[in-house]
Amino acid sequence: MTHGARPLVAGNWKMNGLRESLTEAAAICEAVAAGGAGKAEIVVCPPATMLMATARICEGTKVGLGGQDCHAEASGAFTGDISAEMLKDAGATYVILGHSERRAGHHETDKIVRAKATAAMRAGLAAIICVGETRAARDAGDALSIVGVQLAGSIPEISPPGRIVVAYEPVWAIGTGLTPTRQDIAEMHGFIRDRVNQHLPGQGASMRILYGGSVRPANAAELLWIDDVDGALVGGASLSSAEFMAIAGIYTKSRKD
Ligand code: PEP
Repeated sequence: MTHGARPLVAGNWKMNGLRESLTEAAAICEAVAAGGAGKAEIVVCPPATMLMATARICEGTKVGLGGQDCHAEASGAFTGDISAEMLKDAGATYVILGHSERRAGHHETDKIVRAKATAAMRAGLAAIICVGETRAARDAGDALSIVGVQLAGSIPEISPPGRIVVAYEPVWAIGTGLTPTRQDIAEMHGFIRDRVNQHLPGQGASMRILYGGSVRPANAAELLWIDDVDGALVGGASLSSAEFMAIAGIYTKSRKD
C-alpha cells in the first residue's frame, strides 16, 4: 500500500441488480458503520437505474456511490447515454471509466476514455480509470508497454489532485478466477505510479492504484497488501455484501497480521 494513501474498495455491479439488491447496499452501509472496512473508503457502483435509490440508502453513511460510465458531453442528443453531471446529480461522487468490457464491447479508445475522464473532472467527480492487458499481450511480454500507452492516452491533461484513481485490471483476470503473480502486480503498480508521475507531475506518489480481477475474500489479503496496491475494484464478489465486506475487511487489520 502507498504510504499515507487511504485505501479504496469499489464494487462494480456491472449490469446486475434490481430493486431487491438495495438490501445488499443497505447491508454494506451497516457493515461500514460498524467499522467493517477499517480505514478503507467504500464505494458502490450499481447500474444507472439504481443510482438514485442507492443514493438514498447511502445518504448520511460513509459509503460512496459511483457510476459505471459517462458520456463526454454534459447534455444533448445522445439517446441512451448519461452525462457526468447526471451521475453527480443522482448522488455519485465517482465514475468507472474505460473498463475493459466497455473498451471491448463498446469500442472505447483511450481518446474516448480521456474525453469521458475530462467530463468527470468538469462535473466534480473522481474517475476510476481502468487499464490492463490481454492474456496474449502478457504472454508476449507487452503488458507494461500496453498499459503505458493506455495511461498516456486515457488520463486527462488537467486533473485536480486526488480525483483520478487508476485501476489495473488485467483483462484475462476479470471474472475468470485467475490472477497475476504478486510479483507481476507489484511490477505493474510501480510502473503505473511512475507513468502517472510523468503525466501528472507530483501526483503519482499519492495517487491510488487499485487492483481488479478476481478479487475474492480468499485472496484479498494476498493481493491487496502488495506494495503500491491501494485497494480493489471488485466485480463479481461485490454483488454479495458479505463477500464484498469480507474483502474490505482486510483493512481492519494491520499488514503484518
Ligand atoms: C471488474 O469487472 O471490474 C472485475 C474486477 O471483475 P471480477 O472481480 O469479477 O473479476
